[in-house]
Amino acid sequence: MESCQEPEKRLEELNRRIISCKACPRLVQYRRYIEEHKPARYMGESYWSAPLPGFGDIYAEILVLGLAPAAHGGNRTGRMFTGDSSGNTLIRSLYEAGLANKPESVRAGDGLVLRGVYVTASVRCAPPNNKPSSEERRNCMKYLAEEFRIISNVKVVVALGRFAFDTFIMLARDVGISPAEGRKPRFAHGGVYRFVGRFFGRDAPVLVASYHPSRQNTNTGRLTQQMLTNIFLKAQEIASGIT
Ligand code: SF4
Repeated sequence: MESCQEPEKRLEELNRRIISCKACPRLVQYRRYIEEHKPARYMGESYWSAPLPGFGDIYAEILVLGLAPAAHGGNRTGRMFTGDSSGNTLIRSLYEAGLANKPESVRAGDGLVLRGVYVTASVRCAPPNNKPSSEERRNCMKYLAEEFRIISNVKVVVALGRFAFDTFIMLARDVGISPAEGRKPRFAHGGVYRFVGRFFGRDAPVLVASYHPSRQNTNTGRLTQQMLTNIFLKAQEIASGIT
């Protein structure tokens, strides 16, 4: 049964639980390790070093699902996709697509406002080598499910990278929605995947796949800024029923 509390209150309560979570011992330990082994450029900074809640518009129609916070990005600044090159690329594309009020994401409290989009991750603690274990993903998926219950206008999920894509497919299986085409969806940049069945009491969102805006992908040209912006333009068209 859904809570009758306001969504803002429910999200605040969820975020408090996320921030204090210690369910994954390896990641709890790694959070401390990162802070103790800062690179010289961040030596004077105190790190967030805790799980990260999502951020953005609670009434969003588009939800962006990433992998996990970066050790010296979100884990340092305390906000998803903030303070590292992946975040810079993502926020610039959200801005170019009209979903953010500014093209940069430098630190929490920098005035960035997302409109119509909510950003979250499959795993909320920075993992060693950006590789969470299956168990860590499983532990953290309960928070994603809770976000979908609260952020209830979501019509499109943009999965950044294969890990996030697989996380959504796992959640889809858990809640009993099925791929509209019958076969298991296969990750392809720009792919659009529709589902049938009820998803937390409403129609299932459409899944859109994108390469992750990691430095590895952007430096090699596998993902350009325009390619990522186009993903968000497409997501908006789907959300507004144009395609
Ligand atoms: S990854 Fe998720 S489940 Fe694991 S400790 Fe962090 S917040 Fe908790």
